Amino acid sequence: MVFDSIAEPGHEQISYFSDPETGLTAIVAIHDTSLGPSLGGTRIRDYESEEAALTDVLRLSEAMTYKAAATDLPLGGGKAVIIGDPEEVKTEDALEAYGRAVDCLAGRYITSVDINSGAEEMDIVARETDHVVGGTDGLGNPSEVTAHGVFSGIRACAEHTYGTSTVSDLDVVVQGLGKVGRLLAEELLEHGASVTISDVNQEAVDEFSAAYDVDIVAPDAVYEEPCDVFAPCAIGGVVNDETIDQLQCDIVAGSANNVLAERRHADALAERDILYAPDYVINAGGLVTVGKEYLGGTYEEAYEESEKIGDRLTEMIERAEDEGTTVLDAAEAYAQERIDESETVTPALPSNDSNN
Ligand code: NAD
Repeated sequence: MVFDSIAEPGHEQISYFSDPETGLTAIVAIHDTSLGPSLGGTRIRDYESEEAALTDVLRLSEAMTYKAAATDLPLGGGKAVIIGDPEEVKTEDALEAYGRAVDCLAGRYITSVDINSGAEEMDIVARETDHVVGGTDGLGNPSEVTAHGVFSGIRACAEHTYGTSTVSDLDVVVQGLGKVGRLLAEELLEHGASVTISDVNQEAVDEFSAAYDVDIVAPDAVYEEPCDVFAPCAIGGVVNDETIDQLQCDIVAGSANNVLAERRHADALAERDILYAPDYVINAGGLVTVGKEYLGGTYEEAYEESEKIGDRLTEMIERAEDEGTTVLDAAEAYAQERIDESETVTPALPSNDSNN
């Protein structure tokens, strides 16, 4: 049954777009607009099957709802996928057709960058719709804001675990020296932390270690490296059945999305007395930036707002302690309460008093 796939996670709307002339095949999933228009990137990927694409867009759009709500943003959760080999489907014609598809959703879904879609692609989409952020005339790469938000989250975790938010006594392992990991490592070093870096890209490791006084750990030994904070800033699924027993840290707090291979790994971390900062809470700086672009504001304001991530995380950590749950449970409860308390603000679906 078509509606079964979206009923349980509570999606409002799934739209399928096909434009044979340009080869566009896309799905837009709007999970929840109780707090505002749904905002989330467009992922361009050669999925194994249409079913895999649907599963991904449903999961990602639901996560955006919780990310926005847990970040106190007046935004809902949505996401889109364009199906196909990025090299083949990223034509101007197809992206323009995609822009028209987004436009017909009348602002219930605002699109942005994601894997294989960047500012250039958003510029093309913007020829056909106003409901897009993240183009070249936007606020720019959000990585600095994301890294600063993670830094603020690490301080909150340190305050809870060690009784001080000063990072100068911390040993932090940063996994992944990409756009976010590199900036996070720099900010930690600036504040006197000891940093160990790890990346599968040897060039990135060489470059960073030539510029800064850091230790290096091989990618396959990163989980068992003793440290205070393990900061995953590379890929998802790194806390899993295999790695969980290897971890020698007190805190897991980084920018990567979907850090936990499965939800139950939050409980497993708690059992090992490792504090886990939920990914969608601590890495929300990117959403804060694109949200600021859509709602109006500057990059500097987004950067300042990312500092609130630490306070919000503290609130969730304390709630988890009070209620005897994991921080992930507390974060979900916080987000869900915001959604439940809200009045639906953007049901741009046609009202039923029309005679047309
Ligand atoms: P990026 O692609 O710039 O960097 C990722 C880095 O991780 C690369 O240097 C890559 O070589 C390295 N890497 C890949 N696999 C690895 C492994 N197994 N071990 C060690 N290193 C590995 O990505 P980014 O923009 O820095 O984002 C990092 C993570 O944070 C991603 O999960 C992303 O989804 C998430 N995130 C990023 C932002 C943002 O603003 N850029 C916002 C929210 C979440």
